[in-house]
Amino acid sequence: MLTSIAGKSLIVTGGSMGIGKGIAKVFAAKGARVLLTGRNAKTGDKVVDEITSAGGTAVFHKSDVSSWDDIQAMVARATELHGGVDILCANAGIFPNCNVVDMAIDEWDEALDINLKGSFMAVKACLSGMIEKGQGRIILTSSITGPVTGMAGWSHYGASKAGQLGMMRGAALELAQNGITINAVLPGNIMTEGMAEAGGEYIRRMAATVPMKKLGAIEDIAYAALYFASDEAGYVTGQTIIVDGGQVLPEALVD
Ligand code: NAP
Repeated sequence: MLTSIAGKSLIVTGGSMGIGKGIAKVFAAKGARVLLTGRNAKTGDKVVDEITSAGGTAVFHKSDVSSWDDIQAMVARATELHGGVDILCANAGIFPNCNVVDMAIDEWDEALDINLKGSFMAVKACLSGMIEKGQGRIILTSSITGPVTGMAGWSHYGASKAGQLGMMRGAALELAQNGITINAVLPGNIMTEGMAEAGGEYIRRMAATVPMKKLGAIEDIAYAALYFASDEAGYVTGQTIIVDGGQVLPEALVD
């Protein structure tokens, strides 16, 4: 099952930490040739070391998803090193907290630029190569926040994550006859380095809101992405999968 990943060229934006790191490591373990990105080379190189010492193939490429020049250079590097891009995981994102009443216009723009426009630009940059090959897999890391739920302080974030799905559905139709699929994973609360820094009490409170009473692991998201990236998912496009330990299911706030 899912053996079709071996040898494929993967770009994962924001692959230097958190969920993107999980995607990079799980895909590399399945034999993908990984190009992972981020703005900080130190964290990116560390992930590359972890992957290569486990026998995988990975390279870090410094790139800001809010820069069209950086995005184009990222795809050019993957093409030079790995002969193109078979799979794009558009994952890089930020989640600053601010209520609408206090939000500066620039704060809104930054969240939308990185999370939504950044995803669009990464997708756009990969398309000509994928169309030429007549195949491609695109997986967006969205969120339950925005598409399914709301959270005070995260209106800009929620708008960016819901916006990704609007883009996805239009693009899925445009690309349906080119052998290219585009789907999204919607994580709930996932245990990342940032979450660990927030501390035990915060983690306990977040876990208490999840029916499974625990946070998700970065690999939980990676395995969902792996399915969308596989040959086995070739007839699935424009779809979402929620990976949240049942967080969005309850009808009432009681156990
Ligand atoms: P994280 O641990 O903070 O990692 C974010 C990654 O994105 C890092 O590699 C970071 O590297 C990179 N990044 C941030 N801004 C960037 C930019 N402008 N250009 C290029 N890379 C950039 O975050 P995470 O929790 O794993 O989140 C990853 C994705 O999952 C996001 O899209 C987020 O919205 C989504 N998500 C996360 C959760 C969760 O519970 N963790 C839940 C739902 C959705 P640099 O800082 O070095 O650039």
